[in-house]
Amino acid sequence: MRHSVLARPVFRRWPRLVCLTLLAAVLALVFSPQQANAETAGARAQRAKAWRAENPVWRGVHLAVNSDAEADALGEALPHLRSVGVNVVVAEVNYQFEFKSHPELRGLSFVSKARAQALAGVGRSLDIRLIPELNCLGHQSWKQSTAPLLTRHPEFDETPGQFPGNKDIYCRSWCPQHPGVNPVVFALIDELVEGFGANAFHVGMDEVFLIASEHCPRCKGGDPAKLFAKAITDLHGHLVGKRKLEMLMWGDRLLDAKALGYSEWEAAKNGTAGALALIPKDIVICDWHYGKQEKYPSVPWLLGQGFQVWPSGWQPLEATKAFSDFALQEKNPRLLGYLCTTWGKVPITGVAEWPPVMQVLHDWESR
Ligand SMILES: [Zn+2]
Repeated sequence: MRHSVLARPVFRRWPRLVCLTLLAAVLALVFSPQQANAETAGARAQRAKAWRAENPVWRGVHLAVNSDAEADALGEALPHLRSVGVNVVVAEVNYQFEFKSHPELRGLSFVSKARAQALAGVGRSLDIRLIPELNCLGHQSWKQSTAPLLTRHPEFDETPGQFPGNKDIYCRSWCPQHPGVNPVVFALIDELVEGFGANAFHVGMDEVFLIASEHCPRCKGGDPAKLFAKAITDLHGHLVGKRKLEMLMWGDRLLDAKALGYSEWEAAKNGTAGALALIPKDIVICDWHYGKQEKYPSVPWLLGQGFQVWPSGWQPLEATKAFSDFALQEKNPRLLGYLCTTWGKVPITGVAEWPPVMQVLHDWESR
C-alpha cells in the first residue's frame, strides 16, 4: 500500500520535520549571502595583503570596460600590459554590468558576470590586480544622457525635476542623504566585486559639482564638505568596514583649488575640500591632474595629511612625464606608484603601446 506523507502518523512525522527544519537552518546559515560574503571577505583580504607584499609599487592603467567584447579585448591585452610593467588595472564599469539584484539598472551594453570572472582569472594568472570602478555620487549623467540610476530612480536625484535634458549642468549627482540610495548602490558594488573577483574598489567621486543643492529638500543650505564626507564615509563603511576591501577614489574634490593652485576640474572651488579632514585615512587617493606643471603640490599635501596617494596623469607624454618625474622624487612609502589614465584616447588593444603607458611605467619598476 502506498503511504502518503500526510497519512503518516504524527509520532513518525515529527522527527522527520525536526530533522528537515534543522537541516534547512544549517544550509541557510552556510549558504546565506552574508555568510558567503564574510568568508569571501576574509580570503580576499588575505589575497590583497599578499599582493601588496609582492607589489610595493603600483604601476596602473585606468580604462573603461563597457561590454563583453571590451572585457575580452582587455583579457587579450593583459599579457602585453604586464610586459610593459603594469600590475594594476582600474576598470571603469559603472552601470555596464549584468546586475542581477537590479537588472533594471544595467546599461544598454554590459559585461556579463561570466566574462568578468574570466577576465579576473587572466588577471590573477599574471598577478595583475583588477579593480572595478563605479562612479559614485557625481557623473550620473553625460551630456543629454542620464545614467540608469537616476533614470529609474529620479527620487534619488540631488536636483529632482531640474535641468530638463541636462541643460546648463555638467553632470547630475545623486543625493547623499536620500535614505534609499545606499542600499541600491551597495548591492551594485557587491555584484561588481563578486564578478571581478576584486579585493579593492574604486568609487570614482570626481568632478562632483552638484552637491548641497538648493533644489534638494534634504541638502539645501547644507555644508558641501560635510555632505561629501558623508557620502565617502558611507561607502567606506560598506567597502572597508563590512566587506574588508581597499577603497580608492579620485582626489579632486578633496583639494582646495585656490590654496593649491589648480583649476576647478582638478581641485574644488565648490566647498568640498574640507571633507579631507573628515574621512578615513586608509582610503587610497588617486590624485589626478591634467597638464604639464613644474610642481604638483597636491602630492606632498595629501601625503602630509596621512593618506596613501596614487598620482594619476593622462596625456600628452610630456605632461605624463612631468607628473611622473615629480612623483618619483617623493620618497614617502605611502606614495603608491603611478596610474596612467586613458579616457578613451586609445583603444584597449593599443594601451600597452600608448606612449604615456609604455614610456613612463618602466620608470617605476626600480623605485
Ligand atoms: Zn540631497
